[in-house]
Amino acid sequence: MKFTVQQYSIADLAGKPFIDPQEIEEMLASARPDLKRVKEIIAKSLDKQRLTLEETAVLLNADEPELIEEIKAGAKALKEKVYGKRIVLFAPLYVGNKCSNNCSYCGFRVSNSNAVRRTLEKHELISNVQALEEQGQKRLVLVFGEHRDYSSQYIADCVKEVYKIKKGNGEIRRVNINAAPMSTADFRTVAEAGIGTYQIFQETYHPEMYREYHRGGNKADYGSRLTAFDRAMEAGIDDVGIGALFGLYDWKFEVMGLLRHVNHLEACFNVGPHTISFPRLQDASHFRVNEKYRVSDEIFKRLVAILRLAVPYTGMILTAREPEHIRREVLQFGCSQIDAGTKLEIGAYAEKPAGNQNLDKEQFLLNDNRSLGEVMDELLEDGYLPSFCTACYRKERTGEHFMEFSVPGFIKHYCTPNAMLTLAEYLEDYASPVVKEKGWKVIAGAIEDMANDKTLKSLQERLELMKQGKRDLYF
Ligand code: SAM
Ligand code: SF4
Repeated sequence: MKFTVQQYSIADLAGKPFIDPQEIEEMLASARPDLKRVKEIIAKSLDKQRLTLEETAVLLNADEPELIEEIKAGAKALKEKVYGKRIVLFAPLYVGNKCSNNCSYCGFRVSNSNAVRRTLEKHELISNVQALEEQGQKRLVLVFGEHRDYSSQYIADCVKEVYKIKKGNGEIRRVNINAAPMSTADFRTVAEAGIGTYQIFQETYHPEMYREYHRGGNKADYGSRLTAFDRAMEAGIDDVGIGALFGLYDWKFEVMGLLRHVNHLEACFNVGPHTISFPRLQDASHFRVNEKYRVSDEIFKRLVAILRLAVPYTGMILTAREPEHIRREVLQFGCSQIDAGTKLEIGAYAEKPAGNQNLDKEQFLLNDNRSLGEVMDELLEDGYLPSFCTACYRKERTGEHFMEFSVPGFIKHYCTPNAMLTLAEYLEDYASPVVKEKGWKVIAGAIEDMANDKTLKSLQERLELMKQGKRDLYF
């Protein structure tokens, strides 16, 4: 499938910056929302078409309560129509917090002498991964500061090591990374280690504001960060995760920047990003930010709903930076992945109980400190189908979010059955009796919805095998 790519003032060429701040500001200044136009745009999105920047600007300027409600309802409808009840779970694992950059908002920045620096030794990496496996995690994102100690070979070795670590029935089946941008050759090195998604956030898409926040270190180079995915793609990594740190600059500009980035990747590589992240700025050790751009809860909910509508086929990641009640509400607007049981302090999975935060040892403040079991309980209570599925990646069906849309019946025949199988695995091996009961009820409900489906018989056989102790069955 070819994407319909819009042309904007700067032509999309691989490896070349593409953000024109003036163009974005002008689009925002001229977008005039009214109910009819907002409804038309939502209808286009419900028809699974990505919105243009101009259309997204209309939604961003829709400040009337009535229009905001339309947008939230549209995002909910899209989520139900496309993603159904599945929510994919993962955990971040901070490997090392040495950093030579100086991002003013981050506790790990080089000038923060209060930061306690640590990198996991190999035996600590093993004990932390085992601790995560014992919770039932199957998907990790390894997170690194930017430092000469964390070379592409070092990162690749960590990835390979994680895949080897097993505890009981536990194993990590997909390792994503969040690490500094690299050269194409270095990206090749990490690609060969079998990473899932390469994730990195532009932080702010506004070049001048970017300069303000990033004084010193490699990260000061806006253009090099903006084109990192182009190099990753050239190195064969076609699952990439983009993001902006909301709270550094005008939230409307950042949504437009994210969308322009999607547009660029589609124009140059005919594949959009696998995921979009929208972390919201949290307090960090001795950090310095401009309070003017902090994003309120209400705006946060709006921006998530607008992003959902703007890129209907892209996975959206909601993290434990957000408190429980916001996570619960925002999940309805179309987030498809969340972390759970997260601990930010290096080594804490193996060493510490949850909820014991020390800002000098962590990158920022975490607001949802629940365990994976507690999050699973709430998801099941709310009727979601939690999934630990990694099947597409392992069957080399990359870009699965894209397939969910473009291949008829894909969700029904792959995603939903695989969600049930991985949930069954979790329930049998890791769940409390209460969660186990709720989980099997949710599976029974999902099976009823599959009545007469051709996959049903083989799914039921596999679920039975799971109960008998078989593991890792998928379509
Ligand atoms: N060093 C790599 C980098 O900067 O890309 C690794 C990523 S960093 C450990 C992960 C992300 O956390 C950053 O890209 C940033 O968006 C986010 N982050 C940093 N400080 C934050 C804060 N105070 N509140 C919320 N998120 C923050
Ligand atoms: Fe280092 Fe990343 Fe923190 Fe910046 S955001 S100081 S690069 S860890």
